[in-house]
Amino acid sequence: MKPISMMKRAGFTAIAGLMAINAFAQDEVSIVNITDNIHMLVGKGGNIGVSTGADGTFLIDDKFAPMTGNIIEALKSLGGDSATYLVNTHFHGDHSGGNENFGKTGTLILSHENVRTRLADGSTVSAFNMVTPPQSGSALPVITFSEEMTVHLNGDAINVIHVPNAHTDGDSIVHFSDSNVIHTGDVFFNGFFPFIDVEHGGSVIGTINAVDAILALSNDDTVIIPGHGALSNVTELKAYREMLDTAQTRLSKLKAEGKDAAAAAAMNPLSDLDEQWGTVMFNAYRWISIIYDGI
Ligand SMILES: [Zn+2]
Repeated sequence: MKPISMMKRAGFTAIAGLMAINAFAQDEVSIVNITDNIHMLVGKGGNIGVSTGADGTFLIDDKFAPMTGNIIEALKSLGGDSATYLVNTHFHGDHSGGNENFGKTGTLILSHENVRTRLADGSTVSAFNMVTPPQSGSALPVITFSEEMTVHLNGDAINVIHVPNAHTDGDSIVHFSDSNVIHTGDVFFNGFFPFIDVEHGGSVIGTINAVDAILALSNDDTVIIPGHGALSNVTELKAYREMLDTAQTRLSKLKAEGKDAAAAAAMNPLSDLDEQWGTVMFNAYRWISIIYDGI
């Protein structure tokens, strides 16, 4: 297992983005301990959360298809088996790319109903030129929900809660309510300006509301698994919320003045945030172009 501090330094390479390219070695999967039976699996793509125990293995997200073998090896090293249940926090391919592999082994896939629709329809994420062809059969979630559902497993009541129009139009957060652990999906990129998929229903204000929903379930001891970045906590999540709120306030003012994205970005309204938030994936200038239509 890599120490958390090392994972934090690894982060992502610059602007090329979260979908395919980052500092992790090809297909490598490492384990970060949270509790006796809850762990985070890190590597290329979105962070995985996993609960192992007598009732089965419960997986949150599954990275890219070529990583399935290493994910299953990691699950076995934790005393688990291939996933009994799998939640997709949203449809992006760096979180759902292993669905077909897991579905074929009998894993029961759960998600918000919009995730199934997006996967079945196929999608193009313009910001990264990422085209995902329509999925079918075992790649699709079998159980969908519109607001929330609870899975009772391994001594936890695991609440899977939809947060509307946040990172996409189908995000879920996953709350291990007895263990005080929350997987945020891509509502939270720990420490850097997030990708928000405005094209598929995401928005800054929805992301702020989703962060508030997470904070409402949290206390000082809550362990937060972000969609991307190092294992986190409420203090870091609150700082992230403040950054989002600052951006929303400043950009909505420029939008009300009639400025388009290019004109707003040219004014550098978020330049003071760049040093802290703009060095990993997007700088502030580029980030404005990503989020402005959703302001
Ligand atoms: Zn995403």
